[in-house]
Amino acid sequence: MTEKTADIIIIGGGIAGASAGYELCKEAKVIILEKEAVPAYHTTGRSSAIFQLGYNKGDPLLNILVRASANFLYHPPAGFTDHPLLTPRPMIHIATKDNQAILDDLEARLDAIDVPSAFIDGGDLLPILSEDYRGRALQEYGAADIDVNALHQGYLRAIRAAGGEVITKAEVLGLQRHEGWQVRSSKGLFTAPIVINAAGAWVDQIAAMADVTPINIQPLRRTVILSPLSDGENCDDWPVIMGAAEGYYFKPDSGKILMTPGDATCVAPSDVQPEEIDIAYGAHYLSQATNLRVDRIDRSWAGLRNHVTDGHPVAGFDPDVPGFFWLAGQGGFGIKTAPAMGRLTAALIKGCGLPQDMRDLGLTADQVSVERLHNHIIENKAHA
Ligand SMILES: Cc1cc2nc3c(=O)[nH]c(=O)nc-3n(C[C@H](O)[C@H](O)[C@H](O)COP(=O)(O)OP(=O)(O)OC[C@H]3O[C@@H](n4cnc5c(N)ncnc54)[C@H](O)[C@@H]3O)c2cc1C
Repeated sequence: MTEKTADIIIIGGGIAGASAGYELCKEAKVIILEKEAVPAYHTTGRSSAIFQLGYNKGDPLLNILVRASANFLYHPPAGFTDHPLLTPRPMIHIATKDNQAILDDLEARLDAIDVPSAFIDGGDLLPILSEDYRGRALQEYGAADIDVNALHQGYLRAIRAAGGEVITKAEVLGLQRHEGWQVRSSKGLFTAPIVINAAGAWVDQIAAMADVTPINIQPLRRTVILSPLSDGENCDDWPVIMGAAEGYYFKPDSGKILMTPGDATCVAPSDVQPEEIDIAYGAHYLSQATNLRVDRIDRSWAGLRNHVTDGHPVAGFDPDVPGFFWLAGQGGFGIKTAPAMGRLTAALIKGCGLPQDMRDLGLTADQVSVERLHNHIIENKAHA
């Protein structure tokens, strides 16, 4: 069995582990252990690739993390990628005439976090909207498509260039703390004083191996379908359409329509696959919101959005077990917040305080800490 030593071992090579590795590899020897042959195999490779300042109905904390990521995404460092990471795309929230109050509420929430929006005629921006959804719609400014592959590969390339390692087909099988961490994997033994647990849906399984209290991560399955257009129709310039009441959304993707019904089914960590019923809901919503005929679905897939109780991410050392760092719970926002989460992780590990721009935006370490989850559980028990 090979044995390798590093300053930091990161478990999980998705966007979370890659962004943290990128920020740390400049000053530390980093090894990423990824159980799959392809590091984007799970959630990172299954996203809808949307950048949005007002994500989750204008959640203030997520807005801070997206804003703190925007500069990197719009202006990546020289040599990071050959492609733009963000390509602006209009976004409109639609609702039927009976449901207009939901748009007023959303406008107020976006206003509260300084995300510009304006009421427009949805049918003007997208003539194929069905009669029920034409008329008053809310345009949210600042949205874009993300080139997820370019971002993820840019991180991994930079880690290797700095002398770090990204080891695939290396499933972590056990962890022991003895003068630092000994990590047993299918590719041998690895040791380091610090372990970052960025294993997505599997973070609690990794914690169990290390005898660390779980954070009760909940994977939620979400389905995506790709539907072709009729011959001669081109959707490249269409906006992202968000069904404000129903939770679905659709947008152009490589000449087809990418649609999700907005499902969120609790499941166990796994290589999740789409269910027929959710595919049918996707097709149903698409034909309800537009005049398109959904005759065929070319492809469908499902991914896991991994949440803790308050829906916010977790980044911080475990309070009870030295050298065990959590980087988890990025739900449906882990790509657009990856640059901020990577920087935040590096700052907390170095113990140098949060980056100034994030503090200026109002971020505190408590908001993303593991302790806040433990406190939440204790408070709930006290009220029971
Ligand atoms: C349908 C869908 C749409 C989404 N749309 C968007 C969007 O538009 N914009 C956005 O910002 N976000 C979006 N997201 C969310 C985003 O994709 C996730 O937040 C992000 O990819 C999470 O990254 P991760 O690195 O935590 O997880 P993952 O990519 O799952 O990475 C975790 C890795 O850990 C590895 N691992 C697990 N156990 C072990 C082990 N024992 N040993 C070694 N490795 C292990 C896994 O193999 C996996 O590769 C979407 C998610 C879904 C499902």
